[in-house]
Amino acid sequence: MGMIKFPGYSRRVSGWILFFVLVPVFLNPVTWNLKKKICPLCHRDSQYYVLGSYGGYVHYRDSRFELVEFPHDEELALYTCIHCGYSVFMEDFSTKLKRKIQKKLRTVLADFRFPRKVENYARIPISERLELAEYCYAAGVSCDCAPFWIWFYPIKAYHVAKADKAEEARNIRIKTLGLVESALLRPKNQGIQKELVMDAGILKYLTGDKEGALMLLNDALSMTYNHRELSMENNDKYNRYLAEFIGEYLQKISKKSQ
Ligand SMILES: [Zn+2]
Repeated sequence: MGMIKFPGYSRRVSGWILFFVLVPVFLNPVTWNLKKKICPLCHRDSQYYVLGSYGGYVHYRDSRFELVEFPHDEELALYTCIHCGYSVFMEDFSTKLKRKIQKKLRTVLADFRFPRKVENYARIPISERLELAEYCYAAGVSCDCAPFWIWFYPIKAYHVAKADKAEEARNIRIKTLGLVESALLRPKNQGIQKELVMDAGILKYLTGDKEGALMLLNDALSMTYNHRELSMENNDKYNRYLAEFIGEYLQKISKKSQ
């Protein structure tokens, strides 16, 4: 299945819509196949893992409680060129890079050297690849805007936390919360407030403020989602999906306090 590319928030919406439209709910395990791909920056080839099969259940994984959705909860979904260090998520990898961005990336990655020879990117720790990806995205591969980073940093925090770096993950989430709070102040984000307030609630919960999380999640539940780039029907569906998810989150938090 080809992934549709949307910036920041819309990626989450698009993933959700694709899930219902294109992904049959069957129980195929997640499988990955190796495929040769050419790096859009240095034009050298290497082996990358591409998705073979998976089932609809991947959208119900616990990673969503940390604001991370399939396939970004999979380490293999973050590609790194073993020759030049160019690192982005799989759906961004084949995107042609503008000359100006290539120049910036070459500067950013100029000192990049892997300490050892690796057969493919999967051998490089995910924390190293995420650092590189952060540099690459900031150099202009994606829009250097709040919605993108609000989407990216929870993925980073998720993998960092899995690598037993709880304090580092907490700091990333606190930084993300700051971005969400700033985004909430912008009038243009009025329509997506429900999702932003939900994000803020989840980030509060993940950084240890349960009371603050409960307050924000209940606030989010009372709001209506209305993304200006979506049809009324899809806004309606997404609004219901968010309400269900927030309800589930509230239940999860209450269970933990018992
Ligand atoms: Zn390369």
